[in-house]
Amino acid sequence: MKKIIKKTIASLVLILIVFISGLITLMCFPQTLFANKIEHQKFRIYYDNEIDKDGLINILDHAYQLIEHSELHDTNFVFNIFLAHNNFFNTIEDLQGKGPIARATAGYITVKYPIDIKNNLIKGLRSSANLTEIIVHEMVHNLQGNRYGLLSFSPIKHPPMWKLEGYPEYISRQNMLKSSDYSLRFEIDRYVELEKNSKDGFVEVVKGHYMPAYYCKGRLMVEYLMDIKGFTYDEILKDSRTEIEVFEELVNWVKVQK
Ligand SMILES: [Zn+2]
Repeated sequence: MKKIIKKTIASLVLILIVFISGLITLMCFPQTLFANKIEHQKFRIYYDNEIDKDGLINILDHAYQLIEHSELHDTNFVFNIFLAHNNFFNTIEDLQGKGPIARATAGYITVKYPIDIKNNLIKGLRSSANLTEIIVHEMVHNLQGNRYGLLSFSPIKHPPMWKLEGYPEYISRQNMLKSSDYSLRFEIDRYVELEKNSKDGFVEVVKGHYMPAYYCKGRLMVEYLMDIKGFTYDEILKDSRTEIEVFEELVNWVKVQK
């Protein structure tokens, strides 16, 4: 009897090991789960259903132009993007936590909700977001891992959230930030008001796109340090001041401007 129990436990452990190994392999190499692939310059896009390839390539070319503004830009880095909203991989990927519209993991990008290439949109449960900006945001996460190591930019170990998320937001919003009617001072005032009135910790970062407040706060802080104070991202990472100290400085800067 004891022998049978031991054998059963050994079999179950073996099945569990095979199952977990399979999951880890799929998480690291999801390519095999997708029916189609586009190779375009520094992009590899994996997808299932037919898509508007020319439209998508246009969006990716624009995304690449934005990423060239980043000091983390690496001409050798190839971006693997999985359009996964209707693929089994999305369910496996959800093991990391449900919620985000897209996510950068282990050197690739998973786009988790349906995309509307014609209108350059991605439609999440709560938000409709600009697809180019979402892709650029995740590309910057890939480049953070590429420059500083995946272990230093992982879910377990990473810089403070405002530095982790603020920089991808800063790079991805460059078109808005450089537009003639944009004002950092106005945006800071708008953020303070939105954050004060938010009931669930989310704020409308741009029209129709709701995100946790620290994405917006982080972008404003990074933007202030880079555009007003002349920091590089590397210097921001090394800066030992706390989030409270930097935000206080930012708020004081706004007061002086008025
Ligand atoms: Zn992010």
